[in-house]
Formats: sequence, C-alpha cells, structure tokens
Amino acid sequence: MTSATILPGATIGILGGGQLGRMLAHAGNRLGYRFVTLDPTPDSPCGQTARQIVAGYGDREAARELARLSDVITYEFENVDAEVAAMLEAESYVPQGSALLYTTQHRLREKHALEAAGARVAPYAEIASLQDLREAAERLGLPAILKTATGGYDGKGQWVLRSADDLDRAWEEASRAGTALVLEKFVRFAKEISVIAARRPSGEVRTFAPAENVHVNNILHLSIVPARIPDHVRAEAEGLAISIAESLNVVGLIAVEMFLAEDGTLYVNELAPRPHNSGHYTMDACRTSQFEQHIRAICDLPLGDTSLMTPVVMVNVLGEHMESLLQWLPACDVEAEKLGVEPKVHLYGKAESKTGRKMGHINVLAPHTGAALAWISQTDIWRYDEA
Ligand code: AMP
Repeated sequence: MTSATILPGATIGILGGGQLGRMLAHAGNRLGYRFVTLDPTPDSPCGQTARQIVAGYGDREAARELARLSDVITYEFENVDAEVAAMLEAESYVPQGSALLYTTQHRLREKHALEAAGARVAPYAEIASLQDLREAAERLGLPAILKTATGGYDGKGQWVLRSADDLDRAWEEASRAGTALVLEKFVRFAKEISVIAARRPSGEVRTFAPAENVHVNNILHLSIVPARIPDHVRAEAEGLAISIAESLNVVGLIAVEMFLAEDGTLYVNELAPRPHNSGHYTMDACRTSQFEQHIRAICDLPLGDTSLMTPVVMVNVLGEHMESLLQWLPACDVEAEKLGVEPKVHLYGKAESKTGRKMGHINVLAPHTGAALAWISQTDIWRYDEA
C-alpha cells in the first residue's frame, strides 16, 4: 500500500512502549484512535494507556501479532531491527517506510543523505583502521570526535580526541564496538538547536519553532523556545528541516538537531524520524503538539497549526530529580506565581527511578523565557549551574 487515509476508530500499533509511545497514544486517543504497543517491559509507559504485547523488539511472532492487530504501524525509536521492519511493511501498513530507518540508523548513511538534501554537516571521515584515524585527525584537525556509526545515543559510543596522544586509546576502545566508525571535526558551537518537521504522504510539510537545547552530561536538560537566535537563523533552520523532510520523503515527524557555529553557520548533527525530547514543549505551548502532528501525518490527515502560543522552557525530570519534584508538587508555589510562570508537569509512569533516566518533563509556560529559566534555577528540583 503506498498511502491511505486512516480514520479514527482504527488501531495504531507502536513498536516501543516508552514515553514517546505513551504521549503518542494520549494524543491519538483524543482523536478517537486505539493503540497497541509492543515492548518487553510489562506495564510500560505506553502499555499503561494502550493494549500491550509483552515481547522483545526482535521477536518476529510478536511483531506479526502487532501487524495483525494494527491498521497502521509506527515506531518510537529508530533502532528497529531491519528484518522486523521489512516484515511489518510486508504484513501491515507502515507509512514511514523502512528506507528512512535504514538511513537514520547509520551516521555515515545519514550524513550522505543530509549532504544530498543540501545540508551542511561537520567535516568528517570514515574510519576503518588506526592509520585512517591518524590521517583523518591530521586532515580535519583536533579536537575531533570519534563516533560509532550505529547504536550510539546520549553521548554513548563517542570519544573526544583533544591531542594526538588520545588516538591510540580511542581506536582501541572504539574498534571493539564492532561497527563502522566516523571521525567528526569538533564544531565550536554557540548554541545547539533543533527543528521538528512533519510531512504527510500528500507532501504537506510543517515545522515547529526551533528549540534551543542545553545538555548536561550529554542528556537534554532544557529546550528554550523561542530559541535565542537571530530571525534569519530561525528561518534558515526551518528551511533546512523542510528541505530534509522533502528530500528524504519523510512521512511523520523528523527531528533535525543542529549546531549554530560561532561564525553563524548551521551544521546538521543528527536526525531522528520520530517524536523528539526537544519537541515536548509543543504539548502545552503550541496549537498542535508534535504527538498529534505525527498521528495526523501518518494517518494522512491535514497537519495542525504549529503556532507557538507562549514562550516556554521544557526541563527534563531525571531519576535524581524525582524526590524533590514529588516534594514540590503538592505545595503552592509562590515563586512561580510571582514570576508569572506556569509549570505544567508530565510524568511517564515509570516504576523505577534511576539516575539519568528520563522520568518526565515540565513545560514552564512564561511571559518570557527569562522568567521560566529564573524559576528553574530557583526551585530545588535541579541543581545545575547551566540553567
Ligand atoms: P550526538 O550523539 O551526535 O547527538 O552527540 C551528543 C552531543 O555531543 C551533542 O549534542 C553535542 O553536544 C556533542 N557533539 C557531537 N558531535 C559534535 C561535534 N562534531 N562538534 C561539537 N560537539 C559535538
């Protein structure tokens, strides 16, 4: 099947039962869709709001069952087993297709696709030997980052090379990963930003306002919207996301992570063909959330208005923040009232709170982003200097 309009009442299958699946189900339930998710963890965040098949992501029989129960299938992570993806495509309707997954699962393939779409990426080289690494380090210059081509996330599978002395050890560790490697020149960025675009099979594309992202320990901490960047950069970033969505024939969402270099150049770092943490701000601050937009796009319904209704800062709640969050939640927040901010809490229903684990997020709606940032640094929930 090439494309189809999927109307409410239909069942949407989600490969993966984490928070992204949960928020997709919340948005889709409101529109009258039913959901079934496949996830190995019983009572997963999505399984609490949808029917769940408890099985591993690579379990063919379970994937076939998901296909049987669903009118349309989507996924909430990109490392979907290629054979499972092909099987789901053959036995059900997967409007996002497996080609986009194939591209975004591998940093080198992704960079080639980005370049073909007219986007700039940081200078890079494919590395297959220590000799390659030495030559590339010489050519690109240090500092540089050695990355595994597959499987890395939140800074895992990365080695920062600051001097020639770092090369041997990085090669020794990275080559053990058993995947292709890529060396990237270190971009001295002024800011990290991201743009989420949605495209439906008919070709309609819409973008959300760029988010300015602050990471702590390689995990997203804040998304500040509107991003504190000049208007022409905002327009260029949104234009890039549209070109990428069109060039890659995206159906559904595509999150485009970018570096804004100190000289004003935009480099695309990574793509994610799914809802993205830096788009959670849309849930309370935009007329349409990224989750509703994804459902609309895969069901080939007209895309929703993406207008930003208010400045907002999204702040992630990790395992280490849960205790203080739960103490703060029942009390009246005089400081928030004084600053005129409204913290909207979203929790994902995860039973176990571990350090670094994403447990929820708060969208701090505010008259201006400075007030939201002031509230975040004043509460006792986060104790980072970066806020
Ligand atoms: P990634 O897994 O590629 O998203 O990288 C994780 C984080 O590492 C990014 O959000 C950046 O903060 C940093 N990083 C990755 N690649 C580069 C680069 N080429 N130059 C500078 N910083 C980088």
